[in-house]
Amino acid sequence: MSKAIYVKPVIKKQETGKMNKFGSVFHRNYRDSIDGVKINDIVERYGSPVFVISETEIRNKYRQIYREFSSQYPHVQFTWSYKTNYLDAVCCVFHQEGELAEVVSEFEYQKARRLGVPGNKIVYNGPLKSKASLKIAFEEDAIVNLDNFDEVLRAEEVARSIGKQVHVGIRLNMDTGIYPQWSRFGFNLENQSAYDAARRIHMSKHLNLNGLHSHIGTFILDPSAYAIQVKKMIDLRRTLETELSISIDYLDFGGGFPSRNKLKGTYLPPEVAIPNIEEYIQAITSTLTANLLPEEYPTVYMETGRAMIDEAGFLITTIEGVKRMPNGVKSYIIDAGINILYTSNWYNFKVELDRPVQGTYENAIVYGPLCMNIDVVLENATLPPLPKGVRLILSPMGAYNMTQWMQFISYRPAIVMIMEDGTIEQIRRPEQLEDIVGPEFVPEKLRQFSL
Ligand SMILES: *Cc1c(COP(=O)(O)O)cnc(C)c1O
Repeated sequence: MSKAIYVKPVIKKQETGKMNKFGSVFHRNYRDSIDGVKINDIVERYGSPVFVISETEIRNKYRQIYREFSSQYPHVQFTWSYKTNYLDAVCCVFHQEGELAEVVSEFEYQKARRLGVPGNKIVYNGPLKSKASLKIAFEEDAIVNLDNFDEVLRAEEVARSIGKQVHVGIRLNMDTGIYPQWSRFGFNLENQSAYDAARRIHMSKHLNLNGLHSHIGTFILDPSAYAIQVKKMIDLRRTLETELSISIDYLDFGGGFPSRNKLKGTYLPPEVAIPNIEEYIQAITSTLTANLLPEEYPTVYMETGRAMIDEAGFLITTIEGVKRMPNGVKSYIIDAGINILYTSNWYNFKVELDRPVQGTYENAIVYGPLCMNIDVVLENATLPPLPKGVRLILSPMGAYNMTQWMQFISYRPAIVMIMEDGTIEQIRRPEQLEDIVGPEFVPEKLRQFSL
């Protein structure tokens, strides 16, 4: 056996800014503006952190999706899923584009009415609708989709009490090849409970069944699931028509289309992992047109939420502290925590810097400002060395985050919208003490203390 030749070890200096064994080290991937408005100007006016929504992006996305769908199936009406983002200004953009409101609670119903959406332009879903809200919805001729047998009974009672025959739809769940299957909403198709519900409603003097609704899941990565869903709903519609003479006027498809966001646990970037929106639309429209004669075409409601809005939202946040942990990992403290970043639970946000930064990349943890160990915004970011004051732009931020965020430890920051004309409008001001303590009361005998 020959002996390996001795090679004298050397220490080789790695120069920052040049190619070396750690790879290219100049961070060019930065953005200093959103829709042409400088990040600096936004922060100067509204502080950091601040959420930013692009009006242009919302309208472009809606028009692209609407055009794609309606060119293949014209009897389509989009309905804006309020819970995805129910900021008034955001809802108004969608209503201006022609979307109805899709709500899942009394609160959302009231919010839509307050904005000026007529009751008969509201689709009312959700697994629990109070009697009071059903009464208003029926009086105002809202499109109501019932979820379970108890709700059928409740709806019947309410309709009787107001002396009105009302139209209702039923919610369905079914096996579309997406697992775990969403079986908690509505009546199951395969075990006949959907058929039973239809027959029971048909027996009622006060309820008229005229719609079928189904929401198969969210962030669905397989467009073919929609083809299965649509086919099963068409088949049920046909069965109800021939066996019970029920005529179904509308098919209502829940959302579930993904956005260009990187889900935790997925390795591939969103551009690779996520099918184009056209593939989803194609799956739905081609199943409709292949299985129905034109004179049978129902009205289709499309309740797309996430895909319409996610990429229109950003969060601007600032590096406020830098430290190296005992295990050697670099860490940063930013001014936005998981209390206002609910979707950090399942998203790995895209991270952009507001300026070019030079230096060697390394893995880093990005913490928020909460005094909580769980306040980790980015678990495993690869970043160049960031000095204090650098701003991170996190996205996509438009879907679910601004509805599921919570008031915890600190105030929620401002939300601004960059308008199509390049101006900025504040659409939600930063919270103040009164916003939070307003609903509280202190019993009289607890008021006095001396310390
Ligand atoms: C949440 C919801 C939607 C929107 O879902 P996305 O996954 O955001 O597209 C649509 N319909 C119903 C009934 C919902 O609950």
